[in-house]
Amino acid sequence: MAKPGHGYPQVVPRAEDLMHPRVVTVPPRWSVDRALARARAAGAVVAAHGTVAARTADLERAAAWGLGRLPWTDAASAGVPAVPPSADEIMVRRLLRGGPSMALVRERGRVVGAIEASPRPHGSLTSRLERPHGALGEARLWLLRTAGKLGEAQGHAAYATGGFVRDLLLGRTADHVPDIDLVIEGDGIAFGRRLAEETGGHLVVHGAFGTASLEGAATPDGTRVGRVDIAMARRERYARPGALPEVSPAGIDGDLGRRDFSVNAMAVALSPSAWGRLHDPFGGADDVAARRLRVLHPLSLVEDPTRIWRGARYAGRLGLCPEPGFKRALALALEVGEYPALSGQRLRAEHALVMNEAEPSRALVLLLEWGAFRLWDPSYRVTAPGRARLASARLFLRWARGAHIAVDGAELGLLALLFDQSRPVADRCVRRLTIASGMAARVDATAARALARRLVSVRPRRPSHVADVLRSAGDSLVLGAWLAGEGKARRHIEWFLREGRAGRPLLSGDEVMAAGVPRGPLVGQIIALLRDLRLDGRVRTIEDERAAVAEWMQGLAMKGDLG
Ligand code: ATP
Repeated sequence: MAKPGHGYPQVVPRAEDLMHPRVVTVPPRWSVDRALARARAAGAVVAAHGTVAARTADLERAAAWGLGRLPWTDAASAGVPAVPPSADEIMVRRLLRGGPSMALVRERGRVVGAIEASPRPHGSLTSRLERPHGALGEARLWLLRTAGKLGEAQGHAAYATGGFVRDLLLGRTADHVPDIDLVIEGDGIAFGRRLAEETGGHLVVHGAFGTASLEGAATPDGTRVGRVDIAMARRERYARPGALPEVSPAGIDGDLGRRDFSVNAMAVALSPSAWGRLHDPFGGADDVAARRLRVLHPLSLVEDPTRIWRGARYAGRLGLCPEPGFKRALALALEVGEYPALSGQRLRAEHALVMNEAEPSRALVLLLEWGAFRLWDPSYRVTAPGRARLASARLFLRWARGAHIAVDGAELGLLALLFDQSRPVADRCVRRLTIASGMAARVDATAARALARRLVSVRPRRPSHVADVLRSAGDSLVLGAWLAGEGKARRHIEWFLREGRAGRPLLSGDEVMAAGVPRGPLVGQIIALLRDLRLDGRVRTIEDERAAVAEWMQGLAMKGDLG
């Protein structure tokens, strides 16, 4: 914010021309409430001490969430750079390019003003959007152009935002093509309806947030576009930490300001008159280039602690390094504690997304390192066996994906994370995540170990016996036994998942009846017996099976059991 009313234009403005002077110095030990009272009394926009500074708006937010007794420095940014009043603009802007959201102006040891990082000049992503072999593809490019034209015709600016823009800047292609997120400065649903008409897609409206998704859209030559999410540009207000937000309409910069990380807080304009223009009010493009994970304000992770899981996913997937502001925000979010307004369902959904990543272990290792699972239960502790268990889970997932075996990754992750916790902690985590009650028994490693032991001692060691044991155990206990067991037990389970589980005889039920077995429960029993013979390699051809059926029938007839 420029200081108003300064006389003659200078060739190069100085820090004292760029700063706003409404800064108050507050002792570091003061609480949020006390610092806020001082800031309000002084009409200050920023409270500062040394290299720590908080916006009054953030102190207000912390106080409204019941955090008024915390030290105010917890809600502040640390390591805020300082410049003398005479520093020229180029130097100040260069300092702010590295990520800090403001710089303090200090004169003879006293803070006399603050300079907010201002939006970067707009860059253009036109060449990336139109690059012929980019992730985008012709169909998506067509959709973006169509969206831009439709928006302009309706008098609303349309933008692509979020992961799409981030990945465009990263030049990511093959392994992950995110959905397209469109944001409209205006009625997103009306826009979505028009876009659905234009693209032959089907619009699904999600009432609560005024958002919609377009499924099945296609270009005029019939090429599918993939899923498109559409939303009105909106601001969000969180009444309580971890609660779902209240939303109100906003411009694109307001919309970007509600987002989780700077790398996700960029938009690219689609209207023909502004096609390709990058909106990047928080320096996301610089952070993408420097592979930095940065929150937009110190209370971001308190406002929505599920962002911790999101952050771990992006850090793991994209190799982003959390910068110090993220770590402070994380420490604050974990200190605040329990978040009654944060539902178990949301925590569960975030866990499932982590387990869905191509390499979930990267995110999991970060979450363990960060102490994130304290939000599942305050007594959750990371143990060496727990780490080893996660490493095993990673091996297992890799094996299962390689063998094209569908595994419930979320469940596997949960077992690996909870097996080595004490029983009360594991039970409380299950309750916190509002997981169906049967799960409480499944996260008990005792049963899994017992199953693994049983597998090793199955006698006689016929494949059909192994399959019997595992079939009756149920999917999660089987996953658990793999995690809890070792060499031989694991090999049995892998065989079961690969072949044993799906083993079927060649003869169908009808064919078994045609061979003379009367309709009724005996048909099922014979099918099961044939399956076991096949698993044990004792029948190979359909004739072998017919012969086995005939033999049984003969035996039963002799015993008079067919009567
Ligand atoms: P991915 O590649 O994982 O799909 P994405 O960035 O597209 O990444 P989405 O979950 O689809 O992720 O969210 C779209 C955008 O919405 C994000 O980029 C982010 O800007 C914003 N967003 C989503 N969830 C949150 C949240 N909990 N808090 C703030 N912003 C969020």
